[in-house]
Amino acid sequence: MTPHIHLHVLASGSKGNAAVVEGPTGSVLVDCGLSRKRLFERAREVGCDLTRIEAILVTHEHSDHVSGLPVVFRHFGVPIIATTGTATGHNGLAELPFTLIDHDAVLEYGGMRIRAFPTSHDVNDPMCFRFEVRDENSPSKDTLDTVAWATDTGYLTDEALDALYGCRILGIEANHDPRMLATGRYPAWLKARVSGARGHLSNVQAAEALPTLVTHQTETIVAMHLSEENNRPSIAIRALAEAVGAQPTNGAYTEARTPDGLLSICAASQHRALSVW
Ligand SMILES: [Zn+2]
Ligand SMILES: [Zn+2]
Repeated sequence: MTPHIHLHVLASGSKGNAAVVEGPTGSVLVDCGLSRKRLFERAREVGCDLTRIEAILVTHEHSDHVSGLPVVFRHFGVPIIATTGTATGHNGLAELPFTLIDHDAVLEYGGMRIRAFPTSHDVNDPMCFRFEVRDENSPSKDTLDTVAWATDTGYLTDEALDALYGCRILGIEANHDPRMLATGRYPAWLKARVSGARGHLSNVQAAEALPTLVTHQTETIVAMHLSEENNRPSIAIRALAEAVGAQPTNGAYTEARTPDGLLSICAASQHRALSVW
C-alpha cells in the first residue's frame, strides 16, 4: 500500500494517551490524556501539525484518555465525538458538547472513512477506530490505505478482529507480560482486573492474534499501552516478533523486522512520541 495515512502516537500507556491520525485532507485526535502543553510538545517532537485537526474522537472515559480533553477541546473547538456511555461516564466531561455516536458508527474526517468498533473494558461503552482512505475515482472504491489499533480491551471482540485485519499500520495493545503481572506487586484485585475480560490485552493475547490479523498489506505493528509496572518494550516486542517470524534489529530488542524486511514491529511509549509514516 502507498501511505495515505500517518499515525502519530503522542503518548501511550496508563499515565496518558493521545494519538493523531493524519489523513489526506486533515487529521483527527484520538483521546487526550495529556495536558495541552504536553500535547503540543509531543506533536512538535515528531513534526505533527495540530492545526489540521478536524475532530476529537474519544475511546472511553478513563482519565488516562480524557484528562486533557476540556482544555484541549477549548483550544481546537472541533467536534468531540464519543458514545453516550463515554460522554456521561466521567464528571469532568459533563460540560463538553459531545457529538454522540454508536460504537459501530462510520464517520468521515480528513479525507478518511473512520469506522468505530467496540472493545471490552470496564467502562460504559468503549470503542476504537479503523481509518481508511479509498480511491473515490475507482468504481469499486479500492482501499488505498488502512490504519487501526485496539487498546484498553480485555480481549479482541469479533468487530475488533475484523477492523484490525490487514491494516498497513496495525496497533495492538500489549499491556502486560502475564508472568510479570502474576508475580508483581499489584494487589490481587488489580491483577484480576487487568487480566480480566474487561481489562487489558497481554503480550501473549496480542501475539496469538497476530497470525490472523497480519496480511501482506501489513507493514508496521505498533505495540501499545504497555504497562510500566508489568511489561518492558523488549519483552512485548519479542513476544510479537516471535508470532510473525521477525528478528530483533538491535541488541536491546526495541525493534524487530521480518527477514524479507517488509514488516517491522515497534512499541509506542508513555514518554516519547512515535510516528509511523
Ligand atoms: Zn488506558
Ligand atoms: Zn482504560
